[in-house]
Amino acid sequence: MKDIATIATTKEILEKYQLGALKKFGQNFLIDINIIDKIITSVDINKKTAVIEVGPGIGALTQRLALQSGKVISFEIDERFKPVYRDYLNFDNLNIIFGDFMEQDIAKVVLDLREEFDQVYLIANLPYYITTPIVEKVLLSNCKIDRIVVMIQKEVALKMTGSLKNPLMMMIEDMGSIDYLFTVSKNVFIPAPHVDSAVIAIDIKKEADLKLYEVLKVCFKQRRKTILNNLKQHYDNAQEILDNAKIESSKRSEELALEDFKNITKFI
Ligand code: SAM
Repeated sequence: MKDIATIATTKEILEKYQLGALKKFGQNFLIDINIIDKIITSVDINKKTAVIEVGPGIGALTQRLALQSGKVISFEIDERFKPVYRDYLNFDNLNIIFGDFMEQDIAKVVLDLREEFDQVYLIANLPYYITTPIVEKVLLSNCKIDRIVVMIQKEVALKMTGSLKNPLMMMIEDMGSIDYLFTVSKNVFIPAPHVDSAVIAIDIKKEADLKLYEVLKVCFKQRRKTILNNLKQHYDNAQEILDNAKIESSKRSEELALEDFKNITKFI
């Protein structure tokens, strides 16, 4: 079986099926099999693992995922790839669903997979225009995924694994952990994007506390404002909440820790 993730095969497929990369769908095809091997080995996949993939493209990563894992469910928005899947991705354990990942009932998909598999992972080279919405959707749907391993823009990966505080990052801190795995050069894609990429891993240990997320969104709405002023926009008894939670009303959200927001949530 030919590896799809090489320059030669990728060019062959794109030419054969007359497929130009569509910018609007964030299409950059991976052409380095070593990067795919690195992703697979860093995730620890076996036949007891089910994988959900967003955006298989022409199948560079999908092919390896199908070989290594028990089952792969891939969601692809671009139906032009249909003939490629017919000719190059002939795996019994692969199910490609055409549609927008953002519109899928992912909790239901994971629940079904859980009946048969020990772990369910989301592994993908994400379309960069919707990186954050995808991570947010998966985390907040409480879909019982164990790990998210995704390639995203390096700059975004550095922010997410650095000291940035925002509602999503605080939710990840509450639910598990996030790691920067490795950097990926922009030169291993066709077409090459403008910036380098990186692979990150999010391990999920507990469900999302959706009330906490609502509170975080209120608290971080206007970063320059104090915690009191942000809370006041939504809660009449903002000062009382802060007093109960033992938090100084002059602080800004960036100065507070996860435990502080959990306390605030408790008193709302
Ligand atoms: N996995 C392939 C690879 O690594 O070469 C392609 C990755 S490419 C960066 C992103 C893929 O996501 C494209 O195939 C694109 O069509 C698909 N995509 C974009 N938006 C999507 C969406 N909302 N739902 C599902 N797939 C989407």
